[in-house]
Amino acid sequence: MHNDKFENMKFGTKAIHAGIKPDPSTGAIMTPVFQTSTYAQSAPGNHKGYEYSRTHNPTRDALQKNLAALENGKHGICFSSGMAAIDCIIKLLNPGDEVISANDLYGGSYRIFTKIFANYGIKFHFIDMSDIQNIENYVNEKTRLIWAETPTNPMMHIIDLRGASEIAKKHGILFGVDNTFASPYLQTPLDFGADIIMHSVTKYIAGHSDVVMGALVVNDDELHEKLSFLQNSSGGVPGPQDCFLVLRGIKTLHLRMQRHCENGKKVAELLKSHPKVGEVYWPGFPSHQNHDIAKQQMRDFGGMISFCLKDDNIEEAFRILENFKFFTLAESLGGVESLCGHPASMTHASIPKEEREKVGLKDSLIRLSVGIEDIEDLIWDLNQAIGR
Ligand SMILES: *Cc1c(COP(=O)(O)O)cnc(C)c1O
Repeated sequence: MHNDKFENMKFGTKAIHAGIKPDPSTGAIMTPVFQTSTYAQSAPGNHKGYEYSRTHNPTRDALQKNLAALENGKHGICFSSGMAAIDCIIKLLNPGDEVISANDLYGGSYRIFTKIFANYGIKFHFIDMSDIQNIENYVNEKTRLIWAETPTNPMMHIIDLRGASEIAKKHGILFGVDNTFASPYLQTPLDFGADIIMHSVTKYIAGHSDVVMGALVVNDDELHEKLSFLQNSSGGVPGPQDCFLVLRGIKTLHLRMQRHCENGKKVAELLKSHPKVGEVYWPGFPSHQNHDIAKQQMRDFGGMISFCLKDDNIEEAFRILENFKFFTLAESLGGVESLCGHPASMTHASIPKEEREKVGLKDSLIRLSVGIEDIEDLIWDLNQAIGR
């Protein structure tokens, strides 16, 4: 039965079975860690499909098939990091080409666009995509890529995937989505017309804060070939041990996401009713500006939440971050343990203050990645850290 019929499987079954076969030589149920750089050939050019591990590795292949299935896509490509995956996408472009990007995005993405690819003659427009009509204003004959994250980081705006992909299709532009925040459990953008899905696998997919990895998923064969060629030429590939760890993490992705969502809802509600807390950004609130679109394109609303303090006092925000007992102050997100961060000084420090303020990213804004601990302990921690 193994692996070939995964289109018909439900998500949790795919997470456990898609792309995974017992090892033919031993029956090992877990995909072995093929810790090898090269493969014996019986005659020059005569091999079993594997020549060199920058190009192909069986542990990586199993993971790529699994990820493709989870995103309802045809091809997966894994990278040494999320940034290596983004780097590969932008290398599809040429000097003179233009990109329309959401303005509320991961700081590292902003950095690679403005500090690296801008020097290679690629032009980036950063715009508010929570109203997709804004995209049309920036499309011209040089536009090659529309780049979005949804929910956005850290403001939790929701971008209308179907609407954005219709604009992209109309103008013959690629539409890429960084799906890291949602994970494939909550949202599969290829189903809404996106062309390229990108993940920082480091986050929810790996889920245990022990691996850095990236991935792309596409449907189009030609696009897959171009991206694979770029990756093999540039070399940003993950090692087999990391692929094994991610395959292991994925087996519980659906269970973890269910708990992230349950805990996230309770934490969002607590924050909303807290006297010291100002705005709470979470797409599950019916009052969220894009709640209706979130409901259409997401299965649930996730465990990423941002909030400001009523007095927007940065010292007070720092005090809270230092007082948490279970929310660990750290970069990253999506692991089993709850984390907290201060975007203005951490993940988004590479974005200038004027740009941060344009998207409403205040100095007291705290971002939470709500983990899968017992909710009673998380609520206790929030109350004691924020105080009354
Ligand atoms: C972490 C992250 C990245 C970068 O991924 P790495 O694995 O750290 O290279 C890109 N986008 C988003 C939304 C992220 O959270």
